[in-house]
Amino acid sequence: MIKTVGILGAGQLARMLAQAGQPMGLDFIFLDPATDACAAKFGEHICANWDDEAALKQLGQRCDLVTFDFENVPESSASLIESLCPVYPPPRALFKSQDRLREKNMMQELGIPVAPFQVVDKRPDLISAVENIGLPCVLKTRRLGYDGKGQAVLRFQEDLERAWQKLGDFELICEGFVPFELECSIIAARGRDGQTVYWPLVRNLHRDGILAISTAPAFDQRLQSRAEVLVQRLLDHLDYVGVLTLELFLKDGDLLANEFAPRVHNSGHWSIDGAVTSQFENHLRAICGLPLGDTGIKEHALMFNLLGQMPECAKPGSLDVQIQAFEHWHDYEKTPRAGRKIGHVTVTADSEGELKARAAQMAGKLGVAAELNLESVMQQGA
Ligand code: AMP
Repeated sequence: MIKTVGILGAGQLARMLAQAGQPMGLDFIFLDPATDACAAKFGEHICANWDDEAALKQLGQRCDLVTFDFENVPESSASLIESLCPVYPPPRALFKSQDRLREKNMMQELGIPVAPFQVVDKRPDLISAVENIGLPCVLKTRRLGYDGKGQAVLRFQEDLERAWQKLGDFELICEGFVPFELECSIIAARGRDGQTVYWPLVRNLHRDGILAISTAPAFDQRLQSRAEVLVQRLLDHLDYVGVLTLELFLKDGDLLANEFAPRVHNSGHWSIDGAVTSQFENHLRAICGLPLGDTGIKEHALMFNLLGQMPECAKPGSLDVQIQAFEHWHDYEKTPRAGRKIGHVTVTADSEGELKARAAQMAGKLGVAAELNLESVMQQGA
């Protein structure tokens, strides 16, 4: 019987995993170097570095299994824990996703379409990559890049020098710039027995490289089926257990993969309030060897990420605030900081039309209506 789940990382993803797992009777132990980790109050927090052997051993010995809420766990740390208890998803999925080159090579081998790419180790490699791939292109660090960090878009020859100055100290990859119509992601869960379920393909809008909103459901059955085929190839190849997210570009009616995350994902937060079973519950079901829950929608849903600090209108109890029944606020209780993901709000509705109206109302409340141009976002995604 599984009782205690360990999580490497104690950020908001770990917090929402624990919130989903506590009603299932699970206990949680988190390992995270942050002293103010926001998942901590939902379990026990071992405050230690990712490579602290004594702390890792303690986690492995005290837990029935271990999972993670971020993918940059060092290989040696995951291996140490694996010698003591099962680790899900399989650490090799983690290692593939830690390096954009390994990740892209694997996707290409699996017949998952990706933008053209080339490794860049030295300055002459960048010149040859730009020659082969053409402009515009995107130079990215192979490791530790997230939310658009560690990237430079090259549009003109003059941009090469600037990009090299910024990123030349790192191992790099150069990718063709995809003039996508929109971005989307497919989230799937695969159980220990290989049973796989998929949530509806979600439409995503990013601002400054950070996810701003996700809408579900947003696509027709043809694209849904295509996305399911692509993500299934990854899941089967990796003999995956847990939730995996594949981020995609839609271009000329077809899907191109950007990257995958071997974990629950920001673009799946809507599933807490909009789907029969959330990504968090199904991740736990998968890793605990339980049957997976229904991923169908309960209601149409649109999630806004909240950055910096929680808005006044999210706070229940203040006299001038009226929280509506269709607004689902999630406060991660983090210390406010500019640009930091501190919460999200999901708006739900019975129909697409009603969702549009409610989302527009919420965008107004949050003061992001002009910036997000919601009307056009929701039309294109349909
Ligand atoms: P990433 O860190 O790779 O997820 O990239 C963050 C965001 O940058 C993506 O969600 C896209 O909006 C944009 N982006 C990344 N790679 C490309 C590309 N090859 N072509 C166009 N846009 C890109």
